[in-house]
Amino acid sequence: SDTIHLTRGLPVPQGISKPAFLAAIDDLKSALGAEHVQLNDTEIKNGWYMEHPNTHDMMPLFDFEEFVASAVVYPSCVAEVQMIVRWANKHLIPIFPISMGRNLGYGGAAPRVRGSVTIDLGKRMAKILSINEDDFTCLVEPGVSFYALHEELQRRGLGDKMWIDTPDLGGGSVVGNTVDRGVGYTPYGDHWACHSGLEVVLPGPDAQVLRTGMGALGVGGENTWQCFPYGFGPYSDGIFSQSNFGIVTKMGMTLMPNPGGFESFMYTFPNESDLAPLMEIIRPLRISNILENVAQLRHGLQTLSVKGHPRTKYYSGFGPMPDAIVRTELEKTATGACAWVYYGMSYGPAPIRKLKLDLIDSAFKQIRGAKKIDPATLPADEYFWSRDRIASGTPDLEELKWVNWMPNGAHAAFSPVSPIRGADATKLYELAKKRHMEAGIDLMPAFCVGLREMHLIVEIVYDAADAGMRRRAEKCLRDMIDDAAALGYGEYRTHIALMDQVAGTYSWNDHALMKFNNQLKDSLDPNGILAPGRCGIWPQRYRNRGWEL
Ligand code: FAD
Repeated sequence: SDTIHLTRGLPVPQGISKPAFLAAIDDLKSALGAEHVQLNDTEIKNGWYMEHPNTHDMMPLFDFEEFVASAVVYPSCVAEVQMIVRWANKHLIPIFPISMGRNLGYGGAAPRVRGSVTIDLGKRMAKILSINEDDFTCLVEPGVSFYALHEELQRRGLGDKMWIDTPDLGGGSVVGNTVDRGVGYTPYGDHWACHSGLEVVLPGPDAQVLRTGMGALGVGGENTWQCFPYGFGPYSDGIFSQSNFGIVTKMGMTLMPNPGGFESFMYTFPNESDLAPLMEIIRPLRISNILENVAQLRHGLQTLSVKGHPRTKYYSGFGPMPDAIVRTELEKTATGACAWVYYGMSYGPAPIRKLKLDLIDSAFKQIRGAKKIDPATLPADEYFWSRDRIASGTPDLEELKWVNWMPNGAHAAFSPVSPIRGADATKLYELAKKRHMEAGIDLMPAFCVGLREMHLIVEIVYDAADAGMRRRAEKCLRDMIDDAAALGYGEYRTHIALMDQVAGTYSWNDHALMKFNNQLKDSLDPNGILAPGRCGIWPQRYRNRGWEL
């Protein structure tokens, strides 16, 4: 399953002949060096998380050849990125930028339009340009991963002074994750909110470069670029996240001061019906910052699946695994039989932590049967310690284990946002449960609690080699998106295959927001070359011509 032969041949982008495309590729090779342009004409490889493909999605929701690049180019500097943009404008070839392409669950490295030329920014543009010890900030290129930034802090002896914030997996790009508005689990978990300053190559024929915020100053902008994100005038950074309006070549990021101590805690709750009262308890604690980090409330099944065993170890029947089996299996583990597990962290010196932890303890124990698990009783390989590392800024890979739940494990996420309220959590949980039941798929929800909202992340784990299961997974996702929209919930992020549907749910006032996005697209990218279709935004020459899914 590792090598995939391209049965449909070289995926030449629609609207250009193969000879014209190959001639254009030769032009690009002459400009960048042949070794920095790679054509996908015979086969592509899957690899695994740390050696992931940059040509396609190694966890496909559709056929592997549906969302696949025709070629991959590796620029080494901003001037080369500009050169590629001018080249794409000249030949009307769609290009798709990735920082590292580990966007698994949301389409991986795959372009939305088959045959796009992928710009792999990360391979040769991977410098940490600065780490400022006074301001606790850094400036990075797209190829800097969470691991690389963390290791560099340790190498410079700054590990005790400042922390990074990492998502569940540390192999992704700081820039790529942040521009897709990803999340981590320290108090700096909202990555987009924590960035400061971008450098962007625009997609027009002249491939102009701009810097946002204080970086736009004519002289000396570097001084405050990473300290104050807004600069003067309209705040433009937002249009370069989850969009196709520019290619980010540098980004500033804030770093968290070491809080002087930290302590993870884990509570279990026995019943599914504890969800609503628990949310009512979590909300005021979170808004007042007694609960300090982007913590997770996970379903018991996810705690079981992250042990890394295949589902068949526990159950081989069709349809969702019965609750009774989940409870029996959890009974044998550190959490014991339970419906929900809360993983959190308290920060600061011990006396300060104690005040907060005591408040949390008495609040959580209002739920009958709530249990605090003593970390001293947990073995070193218990998942709790992975959450402990992540919530204290140390990158990890443990989270990958739940992907083993199915053979050829792949996953795609349903990720709606809601207030932190019992009624909202229940409605979303119930609709997900109903649709999973219909699709015969195990339900593994995790509520990631921000400050005044929560992202419900429902990961559907499916067998990528089973076309029937892929279709069931897709239907389940599409049904949940529609059900949620009818109740007033929208996704914070989605898979490339579902972007048109999700964008369509943000339809207030006759799709005023999409009309605005289209206006921006037409003005910034008149030839429609940059990531057509990303986040449902189609350039003029593609619009209403049957590209939407
Ligand atoms: P990329 O794939 O490089 O970028 C993502 C997208 O952003 C690209 O497709 C592209 O469209 C756009 N983009 C990237 N770079 C640029 C640029 N320079 N200019 C313009 N556009 C650009 N994600 C989370 O956020 N939090 C989690 O906790 C989390 N947990 C996960 C757990 C598991 C088990 C798995 C498999 C995935 C998880 N993910 C999570 C999803 C994903 O792995 C991460 O978000 C990852 O950081 C994204 O990949 P990347 O950083 O390589 O970004």
